[in-house]
Amino acid sequence: MLDAIARGSVVATGGPGTGKTLVAVEAVVRAVAAGTSPERVMVLAPTRMAAADLRDRVSLAVNRPTGVPLVRTPSSLAFSILATRAAERDEPLPSLITGAEQDVVLRELIAGHLDGAVAGPDWEGIIAPGARELPGFREELRNLMNRAAEADVEPGDLAALGERAGRPEWVQAAAVYREYLEVLQLRSGPSDAGVRFDHAAIVARAADELHGGLAEGRPSSWDLLVVDDFQDVTAATAALVGLIADSGTRVLLTGNADQTVEGFRGALAHGLDHSVGRLRATHCELGTGYRQRGSLAAVTARLAGRIAVAGIGSARASGRADAVAVPRADGAVEVLTAAHGYAQSRAIAARLRAARHGANGAAPIAWSEMVVIARSRALLRDVRSDLLAADIPCESLGDGVALHREPAVAPLLTMLRVALGEPWTEESALAVLGSRVGGLDPVAMRRLRRELLREERAAGGERSSVDLLLDALADPARFASLRGPEARLAARVAAAVGAARTRANEPSSTPGAVIWAAWTTLGVSSEWREAALAGSARDDADLDAVIAVLRAAQTYSERLPTAAALAFLDYLEAQDFAADVLGARAQGHDSVRFATPASAVGREWDLVVVAGLNEGAWPNLRLRDSVLGSQRLAEALAAGPAGALERASGDRDMRQARREVLDDETRSLLVAVSRARKRLLVTAVTDGEQLASRFVAVIESAADVEARDAAREPLVADLRAVVAALRTNAENAVAAGSGERSVGHNAAALARLAALGELTADPSTWYGVAEPSTEHGLWEPDSVVRVSPSRYDAVRRCPLRWALETVGGTVETSEAQNTGLLVHALAERLPNGTQQELLEAFDDEWGAPPVTLPERTQYESTRQMVVRLAGYIGSRGGVAVRTELPFRVQIDNALLSGIADRVEVEPEGATVVDLKTGRPISKADAEDHGQLKLYQLAANYGGFEGVEGVNGATLVFVGPGAAAGGTVVSQAPIDDEDVRAELRGVVATMTSRGFEACINETCRSCPVRRSCPAQPQGAQVSE
Ligand code: SF4
Repeated sequence: MLDAIARGSVVATGGPGTGKTLVAVEAVVRAVAAGTSPERVMVLAPTRMAAADLRDRVSLAVNRPTGVPLVRTPSSLAFSILATRAAERDEPLPSLITGAEQDVVLRELIAGHLDGAVAGPDWEGIIAPGARELPGFREELRNLMNRAAEADVEPGDLAALGERAGRPEWVQAAAVYREYLEVLQLRSGPSDAGVRFDHAAIVARAADELHGGLAEGRPSSWDLLVVDDFQDVTAATAALVGLIADSGTRVLLTGNADQTVEGFRGALAHGLDHSVGRLRATHCELGTGYRQRGSLAAVTARLAGRIAVAGIGSARASGRADAVAVPRADGAVEVLTAAHGYAQSRAIAARLRAARHGANGAAPIAWSEMVVIARSRALLRDVRSDLLAADIPCESLGDGVALHREPAVAPLLTMLRVALGEPWTEESALAVLGSRVGGLDPVAMRRLRRELLREERAAGGERSSVDLLLDALADPARFASLRGPEARLAARVAAAVGAARTRANEPSSTPGAVIWAAWTTLGVSSEWREAALAGSARDDADLDAVIAVLRAAQTYSERLPTAAALAFLDYLEAQDFAADVLGARAQGHDSVRFATPASAVGREWDLVVVAGLNEGAWPNLRLRDSVLGSQRLAEALAAGPAGALERASGDRDMRQARREVLDDETRSLLVAVSRARKRLLVTAVTDGEQLASRFVAVIESAADVEARDAAREPLVADLRAVVAALRTNAENAVAAGSGERSVGHNAAALARLAALGELTADPSTWYGVAEPSTEHGLWEPDSVVRVSPSRYDAVRRCPLRWALETVGGTVETSEAQNTGLLVHALAERLPNGTQQELLEAFDDEWGAPPVTLPERTQYESTRQMVVRLAGYIGSRGGVAVRTELPFRVQIDNALLSGIADRVEVEPEGATVVDLKTGRPISKADAEDHGQLKLYQLAANYGGFEGVEGVNGATLVFVGPGAAAGGTVVSQAPIDDEDVRAELRGVVATMTSRGFEACINETCRSCPVRRSCPAQPQGAQVSE
């Protein structure tokens, strides 16, 4: 085959592990050895990951320094072609826009259409208006535009094809496509910046350039072009390769149509077959598999046999040979089922750990030689987090979160905004101080605020801790007089903001320089780096994120040299999803890898885990062709001008379409299982609702194994489980009086683990053994404490819950709370509103009409609350009302403050009204209602401006179960002295050093139940 390559173009096909990539590498080595300059050899791989791996192999094999990268992706090659031409014409260099930037452009365009600012396409009858705002719609548009761009189809051609094929969605999408291209042109930046391309269009543009060069008789830049995994390249790349071949370059394509996994990105399984004719190439098939033997090879061959043949691109010779030549049932393939997702992860963890330690006499396998492959990234994330919890080193997934939302980046950007002139707010200050870069936990934060207050009160000041904190952040020196490490951490944040501000005010500062000034002043990088090197995936990922933001800032400045830091912040924060990573993410040296089938292409591991092989998930037979039909467009365009109309028109043959989807799913599984060199573990969840995939039976039959229930398998425990078992054994031995020998055996094992560095084995780290970390309460006993009505009730109900919630043990805002906020907002805006006015305002606030059943139910239930609210307001006609009335008054050591929903003023006196959207309570409960008592007390002590005492207080319930005009439950006027005494008790509880757990009717929904000694799940483990 290598001789054939020396003579002309070759298409080399072969099953998994037959050495296709090795042929690609050897072809380069031979060409260089025969005198071809490395600069005249080009190797392409379809994805960045594959290109990074191949680059290492080719560089090592060639073993010569080269002036240019030998291995590129098609986009990178296209970019270099366009950049070279631009340089020759003395034009500015072009640039690439990321997928995230592309999404921002589309979002702005669609928002303009929806606002009516720009007349947009007519989506009526195709996409509902509400759906046009969703990210999924933009993704559909992006896919369709990318398919068109890859095939070099202009917006006008797309619209014409849509017209003729009766596809109005393509006609409308073509209008967006045109606008998008115009915007891209406009955004090319200053006049000295070059044209901007997205990844889809750049290859087609480069092909245009080459075409022009060919017509001018320009010689080729390369003697040899090698494309590995050609089955995954797009039609545009295939066309580019064809043009390079036309210019006299020898071409080697390697691949296997059965391993096509980039179909959803426009890869065409028939590409290899077509290329043999297009390039007038010699076809060779590699017939010997070297990676797999026995049952592994049998599984791979059986799956390949289930895929429809895509011409000579489907290489099956090695599979046929392996399937007949080797024994099965060799223990290399194992299938496990688990009762739920977590059990599946535990089973995987156990098998990985056993393999790492060479259990059952097998040779140990390094963590980095293991991979978990799943069809969805969501499942990969779940499994990875469970494996991390089992102390298995895992590589970073490096995706998912938009850069500006990364935990390490978000606070940096907030600090930057402050440095550029935005004031600190309570929210931003607490977010930054409590973040990864700030380093204060809720308790430290509380200590810091208490220290600030202590100083303030000592100096006779009256400012609140929030005001003091915001003032101090403006001046790092302000923290110098405070005690404790938290003051130093806060001072570091303040100093970093100051450094960024100084840098931003310098004449030639760039966004990157401003971020760098803040980052270096924070001084956390070496601490994070050490932790990352010690195996902390979190520190590793956070460092990566900071580097990514610095790199994004640099790219931004290169494109827009005069743009200010604030513009960069706006640009970054407009991105909804993770930007394309520019280089491969750093991988820990010895950690388990994670991959989807697409990212596993071209790689191999000793142990492969295929997780989540469930029916409906893998294969997922949902037809890929969604609302805008991008897949259909790709198929139509691949059929060429003659066949495009026929492929684009009419309904699809559904059976055929499903068959094609099943083939795609089988191909991706084939890629996954064929990555294994020594062992394959397949797992599925079978819980009555989920079934094992049909592929499980295929694998069982091919490997001659049976699926086993993970619950019945002995699990190699993680270290934590080992420590727990040793502790239990030791304690049981003591309790049973089994003698020193038995206790000593377990204790010695614990001591040995602790000496080896396993912290959990060291008794000083055990819960219930250590001394309390502080003897201080949340406030000093004589402090003035702010008491709000809700806090007052919370302390009275259960001091422990109040204390834990105060330091962060709360849950996120629920849907019910959001509903309550909406009803309160309407009551505030329209204190005397009619039902019609209130309902109109409600519909305005609600926004898009509800579509799904849960949305409709929620809408209807909230609407009924508004109707009841209107009923109540109607019944109070003629009463003077003040809404959202603040109050503030100090009584003894309590600073009462808050806001009352309504204060109704009648000739016989005022009444404080509190609106409730929960279920009504009894009259007796209302009499002891703490919030109402506090409102009354505050009013009677002059806390409400313009209200001199009240004549009772009222709860108005408008939620489910309330009467048509709201259920009104009143509290009689209070005895001030009684409530004042009660308030003193509440303040004493708040400033004490211990908090009692008081069982009450809200325990069932208490968010800190697991930390509550009064509950079984919160009991001390040392009891
Ligand atoms: S579970 Fe009940 S007793 Fe325990 S902290 Fe929560 S509210 Fe208090």
